Amino acid sequence: MAAREIRLIGDPVLRTRSNEVTDVDGALARLCDEMFETMYEAAGIGLAAPQVGVRQRFFVYDHGEDGGVIVNPEIVESDGEWAFDEGCLSVPDLSFEIVRPRRIHLVGIDLDGHEISIEADELEARLFQHELDHLDGVLIVDHLDEDQLREAKRALRERTLAAGMAAPAGGGLRLF
Ligand code: ZN
Repeated sequence: MAAREIRLIGDPVLRTRSNEVTDVDGALARLCDEMFETMYEAAGIGLAAPQVGVRQRFFVYDHGEDGGVIVNPEIVESDGEWAFDEGCLSVPDLSFEIVRPRRIHLVGIDLDGHEISIEADELEARLFQHELDHLDGVLIVDHLDEDQLREAKRALRERTLAAGMAAPAGGGLRLF
């Protein structure tokens, strides 16, 4: 088992819609083990397959109170609004306050092929929505208003100039 390289913004794999998983098998389970290791190493609480270069619809997560693997996830209901300072392992050193639904109902299957149904709110709901975005080729920069987008572009330019000098993630920031 080895940690995998996390793909960063600019990599086309992060911008394509991933395919439904058709085989929930041992190979998928091994890949999930590697993704957990990668996520923990990066101090993230969620990681979607495209972030390690795999165009398939599943993600791993562990937000402290619960964790697991969700394959072919779908949001079947959402309501409310919640603003949260959101960071992404594929968009290093940046975070933005993004408003999304506060509560969602997520369905999918687990690694045994059993159906999953989770009513999530706040951080967990945020995490699931963020990972779903990854499976659709969407990144946090797509949720920004004009001012936030300007700030993001400047920061990304500076980061390109300072490539190789990545700062450690800020204290307390949640990264998915
Ligand atoms: Zn992310």
